[in-house]
Amino acid sequence: MHPLYKAPEYNLTAFNCPFCNAYAKQDWDNLSQIFRDRWHFNELDGSTCAHCTKSSVWFNKVMVYPDFKGIQPPNQDLNADIQEDYQEAASILQKSPRGAAALLRLAIQKLCMELGEEGKNINLDIKNLVSKGLPSAVQKSLDIVRVVGNDAVHPGQIDIRDNIETAKALFKLTNLIAEKMITEPKEVAEIYNSLPESKLRAIDERDGHEK
Ligand SMILES: [Zn+2]
Repeated sequence: MHPLYKAPEYNLTAFNCPFCNAYAKQDWDNLSQIFRDRWHFNELDGSTCAHCTKSSVWFNKVMVYPDFKGIQPPNQDLNADIQEDYQEAASILQKSPRGAAALLRLAIQKLCMELGEEGKNINLDIKNLVSKGLPSAVQKSLDIVRVVGNDAVHPGQIDIRDNIETAKALFKLTNLIAEKMITEPKEVAEIYNSLPESKLRAIDERDGHEK
């Protein structure tokens, strides 16, 4: 996880740069002012990264260049298939937040199946995952972005109410589920398996006696 990641937003004075990924100060210029004699659009802006000095271009408060790839990268323990959905959603986020949200709901459904759930009823799947260690706060968050709960949107379906904030929350939730249900248990297993054989035997014996 990258807890300090700050996605680019219009007029923010600092964010993670879409070019160099560094969290850096951004200098904003209103380009329509500079070209006002010949340029008839009002809303053209540029932001320049203090770290790599590259500039992004914003039209009507939306970044149009570079093609936005600045979303936090997918958890590397996710299936390649799900990582692909995630990347595709990131590439269309600015142009179609609703399309991105639809893809991410599909990715979350696949993730539930990968974690051993049926994938037919996400509500039920997430409930099961909570009983297996997923923090219950994640379930509440998924309710808010209408992945579960009475108001749930069918995975892959376009929901007219989705916006960029919903999509951004879905990116974070996909990574959070992967972190809690795949990465953390894997790391715990790695620590356990790195213990010397004799210690492992001692743990086994101790647990055996306790039972
Ligand atoms: Zn930069």
